[in-house]
Amino acid sequence: MSQPPESRDSMRVVRQRGEHTVSRRQMDPDALKVMYRLMHNGFTAYLVGGGVRDLLLGMQPKDFDVATDAHPRQIRRLFRNSFLIGRRFRLVHVRFDDKFVEVSTFRRRPEEAVPEPNSEGATEDGAPSDPESLYQESDNTFGTPVEDAWRRDFTINALFYDIRTYAIIDHVGGLKDLDERLIRSIGNPDERFLEDPVRMLRAVRFAARLDCRIEPETYAAIIRHHEQLALAAPPRMLEEIYKLFPFASAETAFHMLRRTRLLAVLFPEIDAFLDRGGRETEWFWKHLAELDRQTRTNEKPPDASMVFAVLNFAPFLEALRLERRQDDFVRHAGIARSLLEPCALRYRMPKRVFYRTLQLLDAQRRFEGPQQRYSRRFAAHEVFADALVLRRSQLLVTGGDVSTLAPWLAMQTDVRHAEPADGQPEERRGRRRGRGRRRGPRDREGGAGPAESSAESMGDAPLA
Ligand code: ATP
Ligand code: MG
Repeated sequence: MSQPPESRDSMRVVRQRGEHTVSRRQMDPDALKVMYRLMHNGFTAYLVGGGVRDLLLGMQPKDFDVATDAHPRQIRRLFRNSFLIGRRFRLVHVRFDDKFVEVSTFRRRPEEAVPEPNSEGATEDGAPSDPESLYQESDNTFGTPVEDAWRRDFTINALFYDIRTYAIIDHVGGLKDLDERLIRSIGNPDERFLEDPVRMLRAVRFAARLDCRIEPETYAAIIRHHEQLALAAPPRMLEEIYKLFPFASAETAFHMLRRTRLLAVLFPEIDAFLDRGGRETEWFWKHLAELDRQTRTNEKPPDASMVFAVLNFAPFLEALRLERRQDDFVRHAGIARSLLEPCALRYRMPKRVFYRTLQLLDAQRRFEGPQQRYSRRFAAHEVFADALVLRRSQLLVTGGDVSTLAPWLAMQTDVRHAEPADGQPEERRGRRRGRGRRRGPRDREGGAGPAESSAESMGDAPLA
């Protein structure tokens, strides 16, 4: 960073209890328990990051993270239900019934690009993985609260709520930026984005989700360095991509990604598709808007395969249109695969997600044409409900008649009611009955389920 944090702590602002709207009643009781126990044992404990930011904005935080001056070993001693995790075991997860609270020790510098330990306990770069040796090795990485604030990404993400005084402590100008709804890099944005290019994607995510603007210097740095995003580690990218969707702001986020040129790096195929400007490009945006609308009403965020299916749906329809042959036979699954594969390989998408996305796109042929077969086996298939949502979305987007889906909805209800008492899904019974059935020409792309044969080997392993 351009200036050492110490020389900048003149920026320190404290908003006392009563001068802000954050109350303990809005916080997770387990996060409060963690902070109080740290405090009662003589440590400093702050609520940090998205928890403070979202409460100040009047939003419900996704999770509550805690920062402290206690070292990981000391934190572990205080909480029996705690585990060391993360790069070089510098974080502690305190587990509760249905969740964990993440506790981190104040850090001096941003995270170095050190790979996560693999399942055998060694890091990919061959670094030792014994927790004790890592504690000693990493002692000089811990720092003061000021340093910890300065190693964070954006000013609004670096606010501390002090459990001892109930005050909000701001070392970086985050309160002012929050009032003005600005996403501003802490320190020099060029340096911060080169240090960790994923921050550019995070800037867009926060701007879209929190209805903020990206501060001009930060924005200009994203434009300058957007190509660096290609250097980020695939698993982190995949995680950040998913995080663009749960808050019903994907459409805004993708418009921003396109304007900042980040989309050209993130999804070059989709970016090129949008450049071509065919009639399907308009559908692309409408599908994202429709997904956001559903997300607002659904309890759960969209499944990862649904995310990729929606992103690739309009390009898929364009490819179908371009490839449709005289005899009207188009290999839907093949086209979907060739669209998805580059992205799946780039981000090491889990096989399960890849094949389910493929199935969702391939399944669309089942809803097409006057001769569509109202197959019970398809209606009992695991992807049916999501495939139907996608189909409905397409009808809405193109001004089609959603009432044409009534027979499918009736069949879906029927299949659900017919589910046997032993819980064996209709799909499996159907499969047994169907064994040995002659395969007609319409089955050339797979059996009862969409792209079914590929799905047999689904797992969590990445595609490559
Ligand atoms: P969300 O509500 O989406 O979880 P968040 O701000 O809590 O938003 P997290 O990814 O959970 O985001 O990270 C928690 C905090 O850790 C951030 O608020 C920020 O202070 C810090 N942080 C996360 N990623 C980075 C990064 N790449 N560089 C610097 N600081 C980061
Ligand atoms: Mg968070």
